[in-house]
Amino acid sequence: MSYLKDKKDVAFIRETSDKALDYMSFYNVVPSPSNYQVWYDYSSEENMSLNKAIDEMIRKRKSFTAKVSKNLYERFYANDQEQTAVTNAGQGIQTELGKIAKAVSDINKGTVKYGASLSESLLGMGDIPGAAELKSIVSGIMEETKEIAKSNNSAQEQLKESAKTVQKLQATLETVRQESLTDMLTNIGNRKFFEESLQSAIKKANIEKSELCMVISDIDHFKKFNDTWGHHVGDQVLKAVAHTLKTRVGDMGSVARYGGEEFVLILPEASMEKALEISEVIRLAISARSMKRKSTGESIGKITSSFGIAKYRHDEHRNDFLERADAALYRSKSNGRNRVTLEDDPADKIVKIA
Ligand code: GH3
Ligand code: MG
Ligand code: MG
Repeated sequence: MSYLKDKKDVAFIRETSDKALDYMSFYNVVPSPSNYQVWYDYSSEENMSLNKAIDEMIRKRKSFTAKVSKNLYERFYANDQEQTAVTNAGQGIQTELGKIAKAVSDINKGTVKYGASLSESLLGMGDIPGAAELKSIVSGIMEETKEIAKSNNSAQEQLKESAKTVQKLQATLETVRQESLTDMLTNIGNRKFFEESLQSAIKKANIEKSELCMVISDIDHFKKFNDTWGHHVGDQVLKAVAHTLKTRVGDMGSVARYGGEEFVLILPEASMEKALEISEVIRLAISARSMKRKSTGESIGKITSSFGIAKYRHDEHRNDFLERADAALYRSKSNGRNRVTLEDDPADKIVKIA
């Protein structure tokens, strides 16, 4: 995002990278690419849950052995991929079992039918002279057929049981998948959820040639807020903002925490006017709220948010769509914050309802 890119200029990246390497050397972390990613993100202070986890480990004087580092990486980066793989595998097993169950049931049906026609032939043979030998052969085949049918029946029962187990497993995997799409702090969708929602919304808009808008919002001066009131109070604010977004958007679209103090709304079938209207409602709701410290009831003043809106242009790449929303947000920030800006909006047309 250009708003982010702008902040993360080369000097910032270099400084963060130096910090990461210093930390890694200080804590004797194996210099692998995955560990570098962990410590780079720690140094950039963008993923607060990661920072909290590492700070806690430092506090407990835990040493960052290869195993501890691997766990840390998997906890924050690799899990999603694994969960997706597990879910896909679960679905695969389910399909395969379904096929086998059908095949066995078909064989069984066939066997029963075959058995019935054998027994019919046996009856018909009664009157034919000299058929005794033939009769005994057919009887033998019938016995064998019965045996096969019996074993097929038990195979089918077993398969039914396995299918039930797989279904349970599937339900568990679905829960895990849902969890993997939820942001732990705010309980709304996370970045991965955003990516999935965006992908399907774009697909739908392209197929149906329907409207689609995206809103990016970013809390104003949140760093200062954290510095003044502490991270814990900051976290409560993030939860409150997420709640406001979620309830105001309702079934109009999906809401996700893009990262840090940034949120994204995807509004399928919404015109620019509709997106603007809902963004204004949210902006006013956030800025009207006077925050209180839960523990002491002490007032912590008000917070505001800035917004940028873009409308999807059919068949364009998601990045272009996202970048226009981000550029609009950037203009909201540089024009004084606490406002909503539409893409390609000349500065004099910036919408602000006090
Ligand atoms: P601007 O108005 O330009 O957006 O300024 P800002 O201070 O909000 O922006 P900046 O990107 O400089 O700082 C974002 C801050 O958000 C930094 C970090 O302390 C805070 N933050 C990010 N994630 C979390 C979190 O999970 N919890 C808390 N409490 N703070 C967070
Ligand atoms: Mg930000
Ligand atoms: Mg901010």
